[in-house]
Amino acid sequence: MIRMAGVDKFFGPLHVLKNIDLEVPKGQVVVVLGPSGSGKSTLCRTINRLEPIDKGAIEVDGVPVPAEGKALARLRADVGMVFQSFNLFAHKTIVENVMLAPVKVRGVSSADARRTGMELLERVGIANQADKYPAQLSGGQQQRAAIARALNMKPKVMLFDEPTSALDPEVVNEVLDVMTSLARDGMTMLVVTHEMGFARRASDRVVFMADGEIVEDAATEEFFTAPRSERARDFLGKIL
Ligand code: ATP
Ligand code: MG
Repeated sequence: MIRMAGVDKFFGPLHVLKNIDLEVPKGQVVVVLGPSGSGKSTLCRTINRLEPIDKGAIEVDGVPVPAEGKALARLRADVGMVFQSFNLFAHKTIVENVMLAPVKVRGVSSADARRTGMELLERVGIANQADKYPAQLSGGQQQRAAIARALNMKPKVMLFDEPTSALDPEVVNEVLDVMTSLARDGMTMLVVTHEMGFARRASDRVVFMADGEIVEDAATEEFFTAPRSERARDFLGKIL
């Protein structure tokens, strides 16, 4: 579903992605771990070209990521993205937020986008918040709304970049539970997270990055029980 081959990315003199080869097959859940500044967010952002790359190739569902225009808009519609900050429109209600993109980008009718949007809000457990404004919701509820909004585009793959790291501890699990359920339902997912419990429980594979490189790419259980690299052992030693 996602294929990165020989990807390099620089910010000026800073080499932030170094010869990245990464495949996320359909239906797999891949967690990206690594220290701060190792390039995890940049890696995510190159997949829908929020960051252009300097070398290599990226494909989503067999199609090279286009540089611009309608083709890029189509790709972005297929790649759902959920960040640390929810970026909901403050002056629109939750259900309006969730309806917006399918109507604008996919040409879905308002009635259909509302119906599927309400189903998704039900699924993430906040249907009763549909007519409120984002500021009236807790962080966990807002993040679940952001996930429902992404899902309402019927994406082929979901990218998550530390979706729970801005949340109060008591609401982190309600968001992780939604992500776990998505994973169980077969969604293809690439997830940057520091939540080791989630990583272990919900992912198929772990990609460990350091200094812009993929240092280790292993089955989840193997990574946690027998990491091969010194750096991964070091990292796990600090956080587990
Ligand atoms: P964190 O865990 O703190 O989120 P990360 O692994 O997501 O870190 P990135 O945000 O991808 O790391 O950053 C990788 C490197 O690129 C860092 O050295 C960062 O300072 C640098 N960087 C990121 N974005 C930019 C930018 N827009 N301009 C210049 N340098 C950047
Ligand atoms: Mg980051």
